[in-house]
Amino acid sequence: MKNKTVHGICLDLSSEGKGVIKNGKEIVFVDGLFVGEEADVTILYTRAGVSYGKVNKLYTLSKDRIDPRCKVCTVCGGCQFQQLDYSAQLEYKTKRVKEALKRIAHLDVEVKPCLGMENPYFYRNKIQMPFKTDKKGKIVYGFYKAKSHDIISIDKCYIEDERAHPILNTIKRLLKELHIPTYDEDKHEGILRHILVRTSHTKKDIMVVLVVTKENFGGQKNLINALKKAHPEITTIVENINSRQTNVILGNKERVLFGKGYIEDELLGVKFKISASSFYQINPLQTELLYTKAIEASNITKDDILLDAYSGVGTIGLIMAKYAKEVLSVEINKDAVKDAIENAKANNIDNIKFICDDASKYLDNLETKIDVLVMDPPRKGSDEVFLKAVLHNLPKKIVYISCNPETLARDLLSLTKKYEVKSVQPVDMFPMTSHVETIVGLSLKK
Ligand code: SAH
Repeated sequence: MKNKTVHGICLDLSSEGKGVIKNGKEIVFVDGLFVGEEADVTILYTRAGVSYGKVNKLYTLSKDRIDPRCKVCTVCGGCQFQQLDYSAQLEYKTKRVKEALKRIAHLDVEVKPCLGMENPYFYRNKIQMPFKTDKKGKIVYGFYKAKSHDIISIDKCYIEDERAHPILNTIKRLLKELHIPTYDEDKHEGILRHILVRTSHTKKDIMVVLVVTKENFGGQKNLINALKKAHPEITTIVENINSRQTNVILGNKERVLFGKGYIEDELLGVKFKISASSFYQINPLQTELLYTKAIEASNITKDDILLDAYSGVGTIGLIMAKYAKEVLSVEINKDAVKDAIENAKANNIDNIKFICDDASKYLDNLETKIDVLVMDPPRKGSDEVFLKAVLHNLPKKIVYISCNPETLARDLLSLTKKYEVKSVQPVDMFPMTSHVETIVGLSLKK
């Protein structure tokens, strides 16, 4: 019931990082409430028998509660865990993986402690911010408030690359000075919709993408010149034209206004070219750790044929190619496959083949015997056809990389018919949020 207030003690954290309290039979999920804390909670809404609420009054504080660095974290919704001590975040993630494996896959196996970051802030290398003019006529950028198109204005974000926000603040100032209007989605008029900033962690590259409604808008030259002058660290500026009435950020047309139009980055010694719309892991330091652990779990040798399934821009296959005899890399998105082919050429890697196909269909028809399978499916996990095809091909090793412990556990239920779980290693790719990445190493049962 909406607006009702209930009282309770937080018993657990949900898979989305929300505090769980029980009010009789009613289960209430509450943002920013941690285990052991006693609170009055106002119910905001109820959906499918589950209620969602917000803290009205806190009576006791968890020993793990800390003062958040970000002052808007309780309204922004991007960071569920800014108020939770980092070691407690890591403990929660380890526990979440352990519990999902037990509950769903009936696996009572050792789960290694989640590997965190030395500095768990400012890690995101891709920043995209909507710009808008508020009711008072002030230009703002920031995050959309949950379930609305109002913007929570920010001038800094504690999980995004620190180099981005000074640039965004300058753009905000220049729009006003140069009278360049922001986009008004209700009236479908105005110019500037979003700014995207991508940064490289190994090179000094910084790309700024102006997402605008029309090419060559008035004031563009002055904007670019002033931006370059204020931020000589920017290495490339791209204009992306999105004139449609849509929530999708990027349009299909792009023009390079300054520099080479992409940034370069390296993961474990392999170079990657990243353009405005390329898919690329957003926490490069932890990605290197993730891939290192995946390579360790694979026990791969130079005699092995590796299948990199759900391969994105080919990162895992390209990095593992030097340890394998041959790599087959399958991915459904054709732009990602195009990027992967270019990345292979740029790195002179020639023992890898890229296939643009549905991973299930491909593996189901594959006659080659695979030695090592690395699979990294999206959140919804793999599917029956793929898992059945794995149990038919029977690679000696499987490394399952997952961003969702629940679908991972569901898929392991099938794989453990013929495979034994050898290692489970969670990695914290997204500090301050409830997300967790897990690597499971599996060996064919003897
Ligand atoms: N392994 C990559 C990308 C993982 S993200 C990396 O580490 O960066 C998951 C990828 O699976 C996405 O690129 C998505 O396009 C792809 N994908 C989703 N469904 C697929 C399917 N049915 N067959 C093949 N690829 C799929």
